[in-house]
Amino acid sequence: MKDYLVKAFAYDETVRIYAASTTNLVGQAQKIHDLWPTSAAAFGRLLSATVIMGAMYKGDQELTVRVESDGPLGGMVATTNAYGEVRGYVGNPHVFLQYNSGKLNVGQAVGNGFIHVTKDLNVKNMFTSSSEIQTGEIGDDFAYYFTVSEQIPSAVGLGVLVNDDNTILASGGFILQVMPGCKPESLNKIENILKNIAPVSEMISNNYSPEQIISELSGNSYKILEHLEINYKCNCKREKFEKGLISLGEKELKTLVNEEEDVETVCQFCNTKYIFTTTDLVKLIEESKKKS
Ligand SMILES: [Zn+2]
Repeated sequence: MKDYLVKAFAYDETVRIYAASTTNLVGQAQKIHDLWPTSAAAFGRLLSATVIMGAMYKGDQELTVRVESDGPLGGMVATTNAYGEVRGYVGNPHVFLQYNSGKLNVGQAVGNGFIHVTKDLNVKNMFTSSSEIQTGEIGDDFAYYFTVSEQIPSAVGLGVLVNDDNTILASGGFILQVMPGCKPESLNKIENILKNIAPVSEMISNNYSPEQIISELSGNSYKILEHLEINYKCNCKREKFEKGLISLGEKELKTLVNEEEDVETVCQFCNTKYIFTTTDLVKLIEESKKKS
């Protein structure tokens, strides 16, 4: 089954609910980055929340979420757009920390620090807003971010289940946002539902669709606004790495040519390798001369 996201209104259109199944895209991220269980859970939650946030924006806007924190995970980054494409990387992909219960200890892996959300509105304007990490469990931290930095009271549920062989069993998430005008009785109902609802990862592993998660959260009364297919997708190109090499300058490039070895560059988002031979490097030197 393909991953997708659903956006809906509920509670007389005073509440927005987004829900997504992300098992495949987190599975792909696990393979690309060779993630161990706690890294996979933390990064999977970040990818899920980020791709949902991307669906809140339109057009060519890009959104980047950076988790800058002091735990063994070493921070992480995810970037998305309004087309449901998300990518990212983790400081340390090989973290495996558990609570005594056997549950993955994402909070300890992440540690203390900040979440930074940068919106690139593609008009050469970048807006970054930040909030302090609360528990490091990611869901709580995004809820706090929306409530404090964007003044939108929100509940965020994120979950990833990892198999014994590190592959992903289930992953998904929801973001519920309360708009002005929401009635107190609706808020009471939402609070009760949130107290009793099963963890997202459990719902997804029991084959709940995003619509069914929305149904649970809305007390079975909702209006679907949008369906969006979502994927782990990197848009890197060889040219980007050429530019990076050119920016080293002529002297540095000549040193590389004299070493007579291929230069290998690796995309940190998707691990694609781009090889530059000595001949390629000589061409880049010519180009850098043209530009200077
Ligand atoms: Zn890439």
